[in-house]
Amino acid sequence: MTAATATQAAYIVSALLFILSLAGLSRHETSRSGTVLGVSGMAVALAATVGLASRSIPATGVGLAAAAMAIGAGIGLWRARVVEMTGMPELIAVLHSFVGLAAVLVGWNGYLDVEAQPGTWTEVPGSLLGVHHAEVFIGVFIGAVTFTGSVVAYLKLSARIKSRPLMLPGRNALNLGALAAFAVLTVLFVVQPGLGLLIAVTAVALALGWHLVASIGGGDMPVVVSMLNSYSGWAAAASGFLLNNNLLIVTGALVGSSGAYLSYVMCQAMNRSFLSVIAGGFGIEAPAAASAEQGEYREITAEETAGLLRGASSVVITPGYGMAVAQAQHLVADLTRRLRERGVEVRFGIHPVAGRLPGHMNVLLAEAKVPYDIVLEMDEINDDFAKSSVVLVIGANDTVNPAAEEDAASPIAGMPVLRVWEAEDVVVFKRSMAPGYAGVQNPLFFRENSRMLFGDARDRVEDILSALGTPV
Ligand code: NDP
Repeated sequence: MTAATATQAAYIVSALLFILSLAGLSRHETSRSGTVLGVSGMAVALAATVGLASRSIPATGVGLAAAAMAIGAGIGLWRARVVEMTGMPELIAVLHSFVGLAAVLVGWNGYLDVEAQPGTWTEVPGSLLGVHHAEVFIGVFIGAVTFTGSVVAYLKLSARIKSRPLMLPGRNALNLGALAAFAVLTVLFVVQPGLGLLIAVTAVALALGWHLVASIGGGDMPVVVSMLNSYSGWAAAASGFLLNNNLLIVTGALVGSSGAYLSYVMCQAMNRSFLSVIAGGFGIEAPAAASAEQGEYREITAEETAGLLRGASSVVITPGYGMAVAQAQHLVADLTRRLRERGVEVRFGIHPVAGRLPGHMNVLLAEAKVPYDIVLEMDEINDDFAKSSVVLVIGANDTVNPAAEEDAASPIAGMPVLRVWEAEDVVVFKRSMAPGYAGVQNPLFFRENSRMLFGDARDRVEDILSALGTPV
C-alpha cells in the first residue's frame, strides 16, 4: 500500500468517526462517547495528514508544524479547562473566527503560491484552471465573512459592544450589493485573475460579515452562533477543495450542514424566519428603543418567599442565564428536594434559548442531579402555569418577557416565551432592574402578581433554604 492510499484509508476512518461522533452528540446519554469519537477522528486525521506531508516537505517544515500544533493544543487545553460555562459561546465564536481566517489565508496562498508560478499550471486544462480560480475566490469570500462575523459575535456575546442591532439606512441593499459585487468580481477573476480583484473581494467579504452580524439583535444571537458554525464548516470545505484534501471537504460539509440544521431548529423554536436571520435580519424593522420602567414594582424578602413556598401545592422554576452566573444550580436542586419532601409538586420550565448556549440549563440541572422527568421543555409546561401556585424566575428575563406576545413593536415580538405571569404568584430573582440580553425592559416585573427578590440568586436561594428550616 502506498503512503497516499494509506492516508486516504485513514481519512475514511476519521470521516466515519466524525459521523458517529455527531450521532453520539445528539443525545444526552451518548454525548460523552460522541466527544471521544470526535477527538479520536481528529487524532487519526492529524496523524495521517502530518505523515503524508512529512514525505514531501523538509524535516524543518515538519518540525515547525509540530511545534505550532503543540503550542495550539496547549492553548486549546488551557482555554477549555478555565472557560466558564457562561463564556462558552464567546469561545466558540472566537474559534469560528480562526476557521474563517484560515480559509482566507489558504485562499490567498492558493493564489500567491500557485498563480504566481504559471509554470505549475502549464499541464492543467483551461477549464480546470477556471475552477481553481473560482475555488480561491469562494474560499476567501466565505472565510472572510465568517471571520469578521465571528469577531462581531464574540464582541456582542462578551458585552464588549452593545447587543442592539445596527440599523444602517438601506442595510438590505448594502448586503445585496455586496453579494452582487462578489458575483461580478468572481467572473472577472476567473477570466483574468489579479491581486487587485483578490484584495477587493476580501475587503467586500470582511465588511459584509461585520455588517450581517452587527445587524442582528441580542435575542437572535443564538441563531447567529449556530449560523457562524455552519459558515465555518463551508469555509473549511472550500479550503478542502483548494488543498485537494478529501477529509477537509467531508468534515467541512458535516459541520456546515449540521450547523445549518441547528440554526433552522432554533429559528423554529424562536419563531424567526431562517432566511431573514441568515440575511442579516432581512425584512426586520428597526426595533423601538428599550422601553423605560413601566410602573411600580414590589419587592419580596427571602423569608416571605419561603412562606409562599410552604403554602404552595405546585411550584415551577424557570431558570435563565442569571442562575448560571450565580452558579446557583446546586442550591436550586437542594430547594427542589426540600420542597418535594414537603409534598409540593416542583417542576422546571426550560426555554430553548435560556442561558447562553443551547441546552445550557439542562446541562446545569443535570450537573446538580435534578431528575430529568421534572425538567420540562417550554411547550410541555406552558399550559400548566395557570394551574401553578408559585413560579420562581431564577435569573431569567427575555425568556419570560410578556412583551414578546403582547407588544408587536418589541424587538423580541413573536418569540415564544414561558407564560409565567399566568401563575398565582411570581417571584423574580435578579440583582437590579436591568434588562435582559436583548436589552428590552420586562413588563412582567410590574405585574400585580409579581414580586422582585433582589440579590445574587445563589445567596437568595440559600436564604430561602435557611428560612424553610431543617428538612422535615
Ligand atoms: P437574560 O440574559 O435575558 O437575563 C438574565 C437575567 O439574569 C438578567 O436580567 C440579570 O439581571 C440576571 N442575573 C445575572 N446575574 C445574576 C445573578 N448572579 N443572580 C441573579 N440574577 C442574575 O436571560 P434568559 O436566560 O432569560 O435569556 C437568554 C437570552 O440570551 C435570550 O435573549 C437569548 O436569545 C440570548 N442568547 C441565548 C443563547 C443560547 O444559545 N441560549 C446564546 C446567545 C444569546 P441583573 O443584572 O439585574 O441581575
